[in-house]
Amino acid sequence: MAEDWKPRTRLVHGGARRSHYREVSEALFLTQGFVYETAAEAEARFRQAGPDEFIYARYGNPTVAIFEDRIAGLEGCEAGFATASGMAAVAGALMALTKAGDHVVAARALFGSCLYVLEEVLGRFGVEVTLVDGTDLDQWRAAVRADTRLVFFESVSNPALEVTDIAAVAEIAHAAGALVVVDNVFATPVFSRAAEQGADIVIYSATKHIDGQGRALGGVILGPREILRGPVQTYMKHTGGALSPFNAWVMLKGLETMDLRVRAQAESAAQIAAALEGHPKLARVLYPGLPSHPQFDLAQRQMGSGGTMLAFELAGGQAAAFRALDALRVVLISNNLGDAKSIATHPATTTHQRLPEAQKAALGITPGLVRLSVGLEDPGDLIDDLLQALEAA
Ligand SMILES: *Cc1c(COP(=O)(O)O)cnc(C)c1O
Repeated sequence: MAEDWKPRTRLVHGGARRSHYREVSEALFLTQGFVYETAAEAEARFRQAGPDEFIYARYGNPTVAIFEDRIAGLEGCEAGFATASGMAAVAGALMALTKAGDHVVAARALFGSCLYVLEEVLGRFGVEVTLVDGTDLDQWRAAVRADTRLVFFESVSNPALEVTDIAAVAEIAHAAGALVVVDNVFATPVFSRAAEQGADIVIYSATKHIDGQGRALGGVILGPREILRGPVQTYMKHTGGALSPFNAWVMLKGLETMDLRVRAQAESAAQIAAALEGHPKLARVLYPGLPSHPQFDLAQRQMGSGGTMLAFELAGGQAAAFRALDALRVVLISNNLGDAKSIATHPATTTHQRLPEAQKAALGITPGLVRLSVGLEDPGDLIDDLLQALEAA
């Protein structure tokens, strides 16, 4: 790949591996295995496979490799390993990089499944986890210790949209010799390349903005070659969380249009946030691109955008939130995000249903909170839909 390509060119051409047919669109190699001319060739490949030699789709596949190289090139990372889902990426990175006796510091504002992996799974294997308020650098400083193996956080949290300072947390973690693992799903690589800001390992759920059209699950772990081709690849290839070649092909097509989609979605999100702020039925509107957001300056510095996600709290609590959701005509009630279709979610009763009440309160997941993933519809239609739904609430 040309080293000086800009992101939009990388999204279209990065990682290209053409077969002898010289196809224009990426080939879908829907194959589990690969044939060797001789037994000795098989032996040699099992001993040391070259960068363009494949053995078994659980280890790697040409279509999957195009996806890995394309997204790694975009993020500015040396290597990537594509996974069956975003959670396979989070769990794989954390399990591959920690062992019993290690200490991990994580921001408490996390996706429910990430919390489960950190608290339940790592805990069961003897990894001690300290949770902090990710927006408070003093808490990171106080929590990181000499035996801290890694720190983990979402650069923009789900669903309350807290923004964590990647560069500042990386400085604290690196001073203690800890790795920085960032779940960068909400920020997207369009607005924030976490690796350039100090993250060692960057994780994406490709299910979200990378597919962007609600079709397939996928994920990716990105980072330095030494870590990706070392402990991460070894763990992933033996535990089986590989991305399907078919889904990799879907994700490649998604990457080609991601920059255009995500920018258009973020522009609409900014218009919607401005139109909703101050509405009499709302207690608050949370959008990192609004000057009223507590980390507005950081969001501008780190992403240069407020992103495609916002949240708002109905003053009338859960009953009002449900009435508003039920009145929506364009926006769908669902739980994915980053999709071309706008989607509204009530986190307290769905994605974060199982969290204890006290934890919900600490994370700002109030009964009136609605999360909105802004899609590609006309923003005027979305604003009209949301305003009429708030009237009905
Ligand atoms: C959706 C999501 C995940 C998990 O991704 P899946 O592809 O659904 O497994 C992880 N982190 C964040 C922030 C997410 O939004």
